Amino acid sequence: MRKKIIAGNWKMNKSFDDAMALTSEVVNMINDEYKGSALTVLIPPSLYVNSVSRMVKGNVFSGAQNCHQEVSGAFTGEISAAMIKSCGAEYVIIGHSERRQYFGETNALLAKKVDSVLANNLTAIYCCGETLEEREVNKHFEVLKSQISEGLFHLTNEQMQHVVVAYEPVWAIGTGKTASTAQAQEVHAFIRNLLKEKFGAAVSDNVTIQYGGSVKADNAVELFSAPDIDGALVGGAALQSRSFVDIVKAMK
Ligand code: PEP
Repeated sequence: MRKKIIAGNWKMNKSFDDAMALTSEVVNMINDEYKGSALTVLIPPSLYVNSVSRMVKGNVFSGAQNCHQEVSGAFTGEISAAMIKSCGAEYVIIGHSERRQYFGETNALLAKKVDSVLANNLTAIYCCGETLEEREVNKHFEVLKSQISEGLFHLTNEQMQHVVVAYEPVWAIGTGKTASTAQAQEVHAFIRNLLKEKFGAAVSDNVTIQYGGSVKADNAVELFSAPDIDGALVGGAALQSRSFVDIVKAMK
């Protein structure tokens, strides 16, 4: 049985006090209200990872939004996967489209970051997704294949079990436009099949594939009903406890 995971990416938002309040609200609400077995992951700005990690409990975990590929050294302003681990987090987002777009992160670099995450016994949430232009010229499958193969195909079968894939069409992130359930399911099945060809069914059947892109409580129920959609990576709606917890509750 593959894990269902709902992760909230807070991006560069919230003061420290607001982040602590959001963490405690989500942890309490999930523990009081949620009867399902999906895991919840809170992914604050890196400055708050240590504090958030000390507050999560039960089926709520913490993560970071990015890491450097090296273990340590003269990389001013960066944080390593080992540091994230030492703060008590369990997940690291790798290759979010904003990192690819604004910080020039390539598939080759992301492959190294994935290695660093896995070497520190953390789980990588590896993001992929096409732009609107790429979808309009029907290149999305080609783009996704490059992102998945160049970022993940160097891993062993054992390592791949510690990777979550997040399909996030760039045109649906923060735009209010969600991929239809049929569009998302089509891509998720495509990704799972790519993973099956490389790692075999025993691995691919157990990889959690999240959908991301304007997920809200009112579209989550339908998205989560698709056979290959195993949760969500949530941006905007993760900034408020009620809207985020309602998305988690949509995963029965
Ligand atoms: C994201 O940034 O990963 C994301 C999915 O954002 P939003 O939910 O706001 O579209």
